[in-house]
Amino acid sequence: MRSLVLIGHGSHLNSDSARAVFRYADLLRGAGLFDEVIEGYWKEEPSLRQVLRTTASTDVTVIPMFISEGYFTETVIPRELGLGHQGPVPPEGIARVIGGRTVRYTLPYGVHPAMTDVIVARAREVLPELGADGPADGIETALIVLGHGTTRNENSSRVIHENAARLAGTGLFSEVHALFLDEEPRVNGWPDRVRAPRVVIVPFFASEGWHTLETIPQDLGLTGQVTDFPGNPHGPQQVLYARPVGTHAAIADVIVHLAEEARGTLGPGGDAERGHEAAWQAFLSRARAGTRIGELLITPELGVFEVRHQLDEGRPGGDLMTLVTPEGVRDQVRVTDGGEHRPVHTLRSVPRGWRAVLNEADLRRAVHYAYPAMVEETYAHSCHALRPTPWATTARRQTGIYAKVQRAVPEQVERVATRVCGACLRTRLWAGERLTHSFLDGVPGGMPCAEACTFLVAEVREEVARKKAAAASDD
Ligand code: SF4
Repeated sequence: MRSLVLIGHGSHLNSDSARAVFRYADLLRGAGLFDEVIEGYWKEEPSLRQVLRTTASTDVTVIPMFISEGYFTETVIPRELGLGHQGPVPPEGIARVIGGRTVRYTLPYGVHPAMTDVIVARAREVLPELGADGPADGIETALIVLGHGTTRNENSSRVIHENAARLAGTGLFSEVHALFLDEEPRVNGWPDRVRAPRVVIVPFFASEGWHTLETIPQDLGLTGQVTDFPGNPHGPQQVLYARPVGTHAAIADVIVHLAEEARGTLGPGGDAERGHEAAWQAFLSRARAGTRIGELLITPELGVFEVRHQLDEGRPGGDLMTLVTPEGVRDQVRVTDGGEHRPVHTLRSVPRGWRAVLNEADLRRAVHYAYPAMVEETYAHSCHALRPTPWATTARRQTGIYAKVQRAVPEQVERVATRVCGACLRTRLWAGERLTHSFLDGVPGGMPCAEACTFLVAEVREEVARKKAAAASDD
């Protein structure tokens, strides 16, 4: 067996932030190359602290879905996964045995050499004349590989320069330039550097967003996919603006390359993880008799299971109830009835008005999406194998902008937790609360919280920042 875990950043505020990772996970699931494909996030659930526990096999390949190496891929993800590694990841990745699982952690997809092919694929979308030896119409064409760049991390620009160097050797373009938004050489100086009459710009960005849709077109004066610049220093030029590389379907192939390379160096697949399977069998034996988990009602019907919000019990299943797949459950529970993002799935705000009819394998997936890691962590709690992490330990682990939560006094943490956790189903084991019965015993809201989630950490940080600002204004 082999499990693939894709790690995204996610967001506490924006439910679209995780969409690109979903898309690749869905594509890879469909390709059937792995026994399971799971997503994990820094700012959503399953969190980086939980995600390994949710994998069904003892052979796990973890791929950071980032466009370049940096703080997240070198510091945050290894630390939160418990890899015992900080700093640059070697090309062959890192392998560790964690909780009985062999975990292989790779470089981010953006640094794989196959990204050069994705840049060319994006260029071809705006310039279909681009053949194997260059543009078939013979017009001299330059390529700009456009990166964000940052003077704080040289890795961010290195990958752009490497791709530009590889493409310069192909003869596809008369000139190839690596230009940046936030470091030299800057993209807004392109008219002085680029001589060719036709210029393709491919943004080396992970997703379509503020930069690709707004700042780049505004800064460069682009009016659409094709923009003419009749009065440039080297004569009239036409710019073809491509979509970002990170949303191209071929990224799924890059992910497969990375996983295969990790596999090739480190041996064959693993076995079913026994603790994980025992947890799901405990849950399924309740589901077969009909059960509730959190806000959901699970009803067995002729060998399949119907899942719906418990407040929709008895509601006719016709037009008023959207019928969804397991991935549809994932999409439904990401926003409230009012359309607000739900970064913590155990907040009491699961939307109503949908139902899913699922076989046993799909039910597992749907429950995983609705309440990530809850079956595994609740079962571990029932076996006395879930170790709570006190707030002080969680706070000490924080780095970067979150390090300031170490300054929060216990009363501040408790005040924020009372507000945030008061809306959550979970019982705060990390704060000394006790959970005696869980949904595995028939108490739907009985779920453990072994460690403060990143949402609470972010709220505590806000509280510390507010107090500091208030103290400064009093002075
Ligand atoms: S820290 Fe609070 S809000 Fe976050 S998961 Fe735990 S109980 Fe819920």
